[in-house]
Amino acid sequence: MDMQAVLDRIHDEAQPLLGQGRVASYIPELAKVPLQRFGMAVSMLDGRLYTVGDAREDFSIQSVSKLFSLTLAFQLVGDALWERVGREPSGTAFNSLVQLETEQGKPRNPFLNAGALVVTDVLSTRFVQPEMALVEFLRRLSGNAGLQYDDAVARSELATGSRNRAMGHFMHSFGNLKNPVDAVIEAYCRHCAIRMNCVDLARAVGFLANGGVSPVGGEQVLDASSAKRLSALMLTCGTYDAAGDFAYRVGIPAKSGVGGGIVAHIPRTLGVCVWSPRLEHTGNSLAGSFALERFTSLIGQSLF
Ligand code: GLU
Repeated sequence: MDMQAVLDRIHDEAQPLLGQGRVASYIPELAKVPLQRFGMAVSMLDGRLYTVGDAREDFSIQSVSKLFSLTLAFQLVGDALWERVGREPSGTAFNSLVQLETEQGKPRNPFLNAGALVVTDVLSTRFVQPEMALVEFLRRLSGNAGLQYDDAVARSELATGSRNRAMGHFMHSFGNLKNPVDAVIEAYCRHCAIRMNCVDLARAVGFLANGGVSPVGGEQVLDASSAKRLSALMLTCGTYDAAGDFAYRVGIPAKSGVGGGIVAHIPRTLGVCVWSPRLEHTGNSLAGSFALERFTSLIGQSLF
């Protein structure tokens, strides 16, 4: 199979979609991104890299960060995490408060904002600077020592993040946040504001395809069983309230963010990332979802 030809074809096919969908604007700084963008990168576990379009242009990873903060927290506390966060799809929006009340402040899964706040709380207990712990982790996983978070995006979200703050305080009232809520929210916003590109993320996710070992630096990030479990969570909960449809269409574990990035992997084979800023109504990149659907169809590989 000619992987470059596959990416070139997907790039061409995606062009008519680039004008469709809406960019996230509830974080004002995010609305400033250039709209007509499409990039995709595939990083094979043997190190071969394929790119197309704007694959080296940095974007705000937003909720894609939740995959990596979860990995760090899971390294620290393992299965004890599940006493504080569930593992079920929610059937609600990523920023919904509804279930938190009936379920006593325990978020349904770690990819909801509430779940990621609990994860960030775990990191805040362990690290003096939880935001830099994640940045440094991603530098190692991607091999890009220059990664940083974008302070303007973090401040923009902090200035408008009443809903996340509400969640934080609500969970604090149930004892499910241990650290000061404002500090947890600040670290969470900085995690979301990390800037990476498709190449960085395709490489960074490789450890999940590779039995928990980073193909970039050889670091044993997780044991193989844990890598399997986090990948299963991506499949069931990683693409907002569209995870069922996404699994149906694409058939591989993925995590998306409202910055328009989607990171995914094919076990034992490759890491992949696609970025296009305009989103469909559930919050996933419109052209990005299309691209991954075409990708698994054209290469004839998925989980199934
Ligand atoms: N920082 C965003 C928020 O908390 C992340 C949303 C996302 O990418 O899903 O709303």
